[in-house]
Amino acid sequence: QHLSGNEIRNIFLDFFAQRSHQVLPSASLVPEDPTVLLTIAGMLPFKPIFLGQRTPEFKRATTSQKCIRTNDIENVGRTKRHHTFFEMLGNFSFGDYFKEQAIAWGWEISTQVFGLSPKNLVVSVFRDDDEAFAIWRDQIGVPEARIKRLGEDDNFWASGPTGPCGPCSEIYYDFHPERGDENIDLEDDTRFIEFYNLVFMQYNRDATGNLTPLQNKNIDTGMGLERIAQILQKVPNNYETDLIFPIIQTAAQIAGIDYHSSDEKTKVSLKVIGDHVRSVVHMIADEIRASNVGRGYVLRRLIRRVVRHGRLIGISGEFTTQVAETAIALSESAYPNVRQREAAIKAELQREESNFLRTLDRGEKLLDEVINRISPIQQENDLPSPIREEYYHPSPLPKQNISGLDAFTLYDTYGFPLELTQEIAAENGLEVDVEGFNAEMQKQVERAKAAHETIDLTVQGSLDKLAEHIHATEFLGYSQSAATAKVE
Ligand code: ATP
Ligand code: MG
Ligand code: MG
Ligand code: MG
Repeated sequence: QHLSGNEIRNIFLDFFAQRSHQVLPSASLVPEDPTVLLTIAGMLPFKPIFLGQRTPEFKRATTSQKCIRTNDIENVGRTKRHHTFFEMLGNFSFGDYFKEQAIAWGWEISTQVFGLSPKNLVVSVFRDDDEAFAIWRDQIGVPEARIKRLGEDDNFWASGPTGPCGPCSEIYYDFHPERGDENIDLEDDTRFIEFYNLVFMQYNRDATGNLTPLQNKNIDTGMGLERIAQILQKVPNNYETDLIFPIIQTAAQIAGIDYHSSDEKTKVSLKVIGDHVRSVVHMIADEIRASNVGRGYVLRRLIRRVVRHGRLIGISGEFTTQVAETAIALSESAYPNVRQREAAIKAELQREESNFLRTLDRGEKLLDEVINRISPIQQENDLPSPIREEYYHPSPLPKQNISGLDAFTLYDTYGFPLELTQEIAAENGLEVDVEGFNAEMQKQVERAKAAHETIDLTVQGSLDKLAEHIHATEFLGYSQSAATAKVE
């Protein structure tokens, strides 16, 4: 029998507890740190320690940290491994053990404890990190061909332009070692999945870009619980692990469909629901309320996406509290606050959902008007005219379009998925200008890009971000990797 998600979490924490790590509870999704909206990594609660602003009570800690990454929202349901909500298992050293020990334990827990065969593992190091390369090869015994050197984007962790930083080393699971060591492309997600990242915080970068070794070197690691669960439970993606799949089944049941026999598009919707419901349940449990700014806005958009995807799979009434119940039941043993907040969670969901359903109704009325505006012209042109017919054989007129801007407004303001607009348009013999819609969408992506945030560990960076935060009226996005973040 495969390990359950709960068992995996406990085994990880126990392993490091036995190696003198203090087990700490997950911090709130609402970070103390004012520079990021939501907790996006296990290291975030320890940021003041890494910055030297707080003296740690322990030299070693281990956590299972709930995280939300909105920069991965487009990946949800489309890749096998990305969520908005996930748990990051981590072991941390505050100026205590370093590279050699972190690598040795990373390997030990992966192979000895979780029983992954070394044949199925590939590791990456930072391009210039010969030290890590040598440890993997000489002390662990990984064949050179299975140690990949990656560039800065993937394998150098920097919190901002200045401050603590350092190289990373990742452990990947190889689902197809039979494809050989010659063709290793870690980006190929049909073959590889990154599940463990070890960050060696060993430098301080100054304003001129110079790296000087830190006196207190730190270790920051992250293993995705859902990813290691996918591997150990031998399921095709994170969504089919016991951490998420029961939520998908609840949604499928309400829609009267079956996940496994559904088409790809329906599966994506079910996965989006399975993912977002976990996010919203934990966000509300951590006292976030839906609103139009900041993290409240993130919450609102996530709830709306749940409702929309519910409509796409054929659910017409209210259903979010039912799927939330499954999510609460799944997480209550590890996160008792979720059950304690059950009433608040359900009340918030119910209110948001029914308000949004009304907005959807208004959108439908608006769409009717748009259609009525277009249709009379079309009908006039289409009408067989006895006069015209004598000398003019009308060629079939190009179909009238619902403009890209109208479709986008319906999407953006009224939460109408493009597919819904297209469906209603088609019923009326109309088409949607999809290119125009995409152009409007692109404009919004660009607006969001202009406003990304990074985790900036520098003091000045923190002050700048704090100032920005105070002036911010609208959430646009953030990410750890400076990738674009947006909610829709
Ligand atoms: P990827 O390259 O797959 O997007 P990442 O390099 O962005 O992952 P890290 O920032 O290194 O991820 O986070 C540490 C670990 O947390 C990852 O190795 C992975 O196991 C997990 N993780 C990161 N992002 C997600 C996500 N969106 N959903 C689920 N797990 C995640
Ligand atoms: Mg990522
Ligand atoms: Mg990565
Ligand atoms: Mg990584």
